[in-house]
Amino acid sequence: MPGPGYRFVDDEERDNVLAVLDRWRAGRDTFDDPGEGDMVRRFERAAAERFGSGHCLAVNSGTSALIAALVGLGIGPGDEVIVPGYMFVASIASVLHCGADVVLAEIDESLTIDPADVESKITPRTKAIMPVHMLGAPADMTALRRIADARGLHLVEDCAQAAGAAHQGRPLGTIGRAGAFSLNHYKVITALQGGFVLTSDPLVFQRAYSFHDQGWFPYREDRGEGDRLLGMNLGLGELHAAVALAQLGKLDRVLDRVRAVKQRLVERIGDLPDVRRRTLHDPSGECGTVAVYVFDHAKHAQDVADRIGAKPLLDSPTHYYGSLPALAAFGRGDRKAVPFRAPGPGRWLRTYERGALPRTDDILARSVAVATGVSDSYLGAGFGVHAGSTESEIDAVAGEFRRAVLGSRAG
Ligand SMILES: *Cc1c(COP(=O)(O)O)cnc(C)c1O
Repeated sequence: MPGPGYRFVDDEERDNVLAVLDRWRAGRDTFDDPGEGDMVRRFERAAAERFGSGHCLAVNSGTSALIAALVGLGIGPGDEVIVPGYMFVASIASVLHCGADVVLAEIDESLTIDPADVESKITPRTKAIMPVHMLGAPADMTALRRIADARGLHLVEDCAQAAGAAHQGRPLGTIGRAGAFSLNHYKVITALQGGFVLTSDPLVFQRAYSFHDQGWFPYREDRGEGDRLLGMNLGLGELHAAVALAQLGKLDRVLDRVRAVKQRLVERIGDLPDVRRRTLHDPSGECGTVAVYVFDHAKHAQDVADRIGAKPLLDSPTHYYGSLPALAAFGRGDRKAVPFRAPGPGRWLRTYERGALPRTDDILARSVAVATGVSDSYLGAGFGVHAGSTESEIDAVAGEFRRAVLGSRAG
């Protein structure tokens, strides 16, 4: 059971799904249905309210949410988007699929994008910064906001791993101009599949909507303000929305539980030599789905990971730029990696190979994750506890981690 929302599924999800089967109509994006009683629309209204956002657009995945958000912001060929070297492959792929270029930035010991490095990567072509709130915790949104405002850049938040988290009291996904969320089964709440975009900018919403639904104006109204795009078909289905609606109502309960589990685990692990927890930009605002330990030495991290049957975060496939062969190939001009475009004549080739971000490489080699709500070995969080763990199970895992750290202490 990968994510915590999974464990909270009960009759509510079931009843909502059955209501869709009883009604059996297509829902929001049809001409013959006012779309007010449908699950997609109900989910969107509830999410806009829960997060305090002007608009919510439900889509079929977190990846679709990122692409719709970027298109909504008007990002495309010739633009650069700054993305951290520790993310999920979709954070990068979504930028490339919009025709824009990816500029990688270092992370710091919060495991999120380093604002100082972002500043050094800005060029006249930079259009947006994409903080990725990794492993449930916010990026430094105060610093990023300051940079974005001063330089006239968009902030587009990848909130796929951080639904319900906040920074200084503001929900993630509402601090930037747009926020993208996932509802896949590894996330805080889940519909098994799905995602959504938050934005309070009416034009961004209108364009994202148009792109996600074949160029229609929002809710398929005949008239509207803004741009009709040649769009795609990326909408969330009624059945998944039925589950998403029930899960959204449980978000605070899920977070309470996960935070309590994490608190007990990190207290039981306690302070240990040669290692500290990652920097948290807002300890009370994070989701608490994963506890990350950053060691002084990579060898110590590796030894601990070996003892607990885990891997340092550097070895988490698909979350580290150096583990994306297709990205490196794309940077070298290989057309097969992103079939419909490639850097080439008139475009700069870029190095995305491992080594391009030495600080990110170093930090990830020294980091080991312990699951406290999301279990995902691809995320480097295969070892740990979950939302259903008992106190004695949590204490046992804490003891095992402590012994691994003390037993393999470097030097
Ligand atoms: C899961 C995830 C996504 C993509 O979500 P999908 O619903 O799987 O498409 C994007 N970014 C990050 C950081 C993620 O963890």
